[in-house]
Amino acid sequence: MSTTDCIFCKIVRGEIPSRKLYEDDDLLAFEDINPAAPVHFLLIPKEHIETLDDVEERHKAMLGKMMLVAVEVARDKGIGATGYRQVINCRKSAGQVVFHLHLHIMGGRDMRPMG
Ligand code: AMP
Ligand code: ZN
Repeated sequence: MSTTDCIFCKIVRGEIPSRKLYEDDDLLAFEDINPAAPVHFLLIPKEHIETLDDVEERHKAMLGKMMLVAVEVARDKGIGATGYRQVINCRKSAGQVVFHLHLHIMGGRDMRPMG
């Protein structure tokens, strides 16, 4: 899929609305439109990377920053102490629906069992 048609690229460009939680030059965090938990937000690179399987060596710093920003925003959302789950669905078997890399952060309830 091209960046023109990608729903998350459209969010990055402000062409469709989102409830933004964090933004810098590389990353954007926003509320998931169909939350699976009381707190459920997504953190994405602004660069259009289709799946986790497409990341390259040059993405190393950005991927590290994703983890740190996810922790920071989770704290801001009040789930730092109670805990949360971070998930990246990669391709078909994981049920990836939006083909622009995104990290799910979910918490505010007991997340067990896994899967
Ligand atoms: P997945 O590709 O299965 O990892 O998940 C895609 C996620 O994107 C789902 O949790 C959707 O609810 C979420 N989503 C899809 N469209 C939007 C949107 N316009 N704004 C916020 N979240 C969205
Ligand atoms: Zn995209």
